[in-house]
Amino acid sequence: SEQAETHEFQAEARQLLRLMVHSIYSDKDVFLRELLSNASDALDKVRLESMVDKDLEVDTDDLHIQLERDPAARTLTVRDNGIGMSRDEVVGLIGTIARSGTAELLEKLKSAQEAQGSDLIGQFGVGFYSAFMVADKVTVVTRKAGETVGTRWESEGEATYTIADVPDAPQGTAVTLHLKPVDTDDGMHDYTDTGVLRRIVTRYSDFLAWPIRMEVERVQQSEDGESEETVVEPETLNSMKALWARPRSEVTDAEYNEFYKHISHDWADPLETMRLHAEGTFEYQALLFLPSRAPMDLFTREAKRGVQLYVKRVFIMDDCEELMPEYLRFVKGVVDAQDLSLNVSREILQQDRQIRAMRRRLAKKVLSTVAGLVKSEESEDRDKYRTFWSQFGTCVKEGLVTDPDSRQDILEIASFDSTRSADEQTTLAEYVERMPEGQEHIYYLTGKSREMVEKSPHMEAFTSKGVEVLILTDQVDEMWVDSGAEFQGKTFRSIAKGEVDLDGNDEADDSADEATKEQFAGLLEWLRETLSDEVKDVRLSSRLTTSPACIVGDEGDLSPELVRIYRQLGQ
Ligand code: ADP
Ligand code: MG
Repeated sequence: SEQAETHEFQAEARQLLRLMVHSIYSDKDVFLRELLSNASDALDKVRLESMVDKDLEVDTDDLHIQLERDPAARTLTVRDNGIGMSRDEVVGLIGTIARSGTAELLEKLKSAQEAQGSDLIGQFGVGFYSAFMVADKVTVVTRKAGETVGTRWESEGEATYTIADVPDAPQGTAVTLHLKPVDTDDGMHDYTDTGVLRRIVTRYSDFLAWPIRMEVERVQQSEDGESEETVVEPETLNSMKALWARPRSEVTDAEYNEFYKHISHDWADPLETMRLHAEGTFEYQALLFLPSRAPMDLFTREAKRGVQLYVKRVFIMDDCEELMPEYLRFVKGVVDAQDLSLNVSREILQQDRQIRAMRRRLAKKVLSTVAGLVKSEESEDRDKYRTFWSQFGTCVKEGLVTDPDSRQDILEIASFDSTRSADEQTTLAEYVERMPEGQEHIYYLTGKSREMVEKSPHMEAFTSKGVEVLILTDQVDEMWVDSGAEFQGKTFRSIAKGEVDLDGNDEADDSADEATKEQFAGLLEWLRETLSDEVKDVRLSSRLTTSPACIVGDEGDLSPELVRIYRQLGQ
């Protein structure tokens, strides 16, 4: 009954595969991390599914991962008895790359230099496809929990793969790699060697919560001590210790980094690691990470929030939205709560007062960690901060609108473009520090781009007087800056508004004196009429020094960030 069908890889998938086959990533060992990570996820899922669906026919007594080696045939199999995949899932998850941002990534890869390629791919994380770095053929046999027929998927990493039904497949997934020849100079180790496998598992996957087993041959004395005999014994390769539950002094940075990669599916190290242990009536431990790069879908509707919820060491859910405010949706990590029920639902979480308190506390921890980087004397920390803000600043600023309680904390860590420097942003503290005696406001001008703002006629007087003006080009800026925000007692003041006071004597507003008004009344009337389809109003202004006119634009289309904010605000 095994009639194999041949399918074509989707174009994007094919391109990624080609990159993998020609291995732009120098550390080939990481293929095993990716496969183990997938197996571990599959075990998490089957455990959860069996708790939620009591009728599901699935055996969860001995959930584990098995490494099976065959040095003669040069194969390595990573087997799990987890959730498995249906035939459609195999086609959908492995034959195509549905993730948003793929097209963008491939565009970038095309124009990137070879050396930047691995960097870009790291940003994306190719997961399963990394198998093709070390294998010239990959076979997946899988059966979804609760289904009777399994599926075999096979590919040589070229344009096509085959797919067939397998009537007698065990539940879970077995990924078999037909390994390329060993070439240690090229980072291709012998992945059928127990020592090599042990080393890689310890390095990358020690913390996984499920046992990773391998049959190991051991030479031992026979019972009478007369001869030696070889016995084969199962060995568990990983310690399975939950990282967040171990004292900080016992965990190395490398271990934290690998854990981060497992939960985030990122290939790059995190920028910063944060730990939190709350005791008392509602006890929890949290291990949080700031990624070093923004995911490509940060501002799309599908953007996920990355915090995982565990209850007493048991994985409960991914992307737990209730644990992190939306403007910190890029934060990854784990929260392990002691006092929740194992079958806690999203609905319960949404209503729980303790959870809300936890979210506030976690958000505070993140903001204060970033504040620590801003204020640090260490240039390394300052660099981290700059990276952080360049990647996530726009996202964090949403919080200025959606989380008024945290507004001050966010303004403390915010940086903005300014007329002072074309390539360096300024924090508000630095701006205020530079304010000359007598300047009462923090001046800003909003616009679509730095260039447009700089060219704005409103800028003329400020430029000629040498007054520093913040250049706000994110759409979200328009929403908070206008709403009575203050920093260190200074209010924000748009230089496009009438009340601007540069010489200490307030210009009343845009209005000119009566005589001038009268003189131009006819012209204005004509302009209003003629431009009625284009502009709402035409007024006289006395603030322009060289330009004859300027336009105060209405807001354009809503960007995804604004749509998101409005949604959060319930509008
Ligand atoms: P990611 O893990 O980041 O989602 P991968 O390329 O590693 O991306 O895997 C793609 C998808 O294939 C996974 O999300 C999962 O749904 C499915 N998958 C991969 N390996 C397994 C497995 N061992 N068991 C069940 N599903 C798997
Ligand atoms: Mg994966």
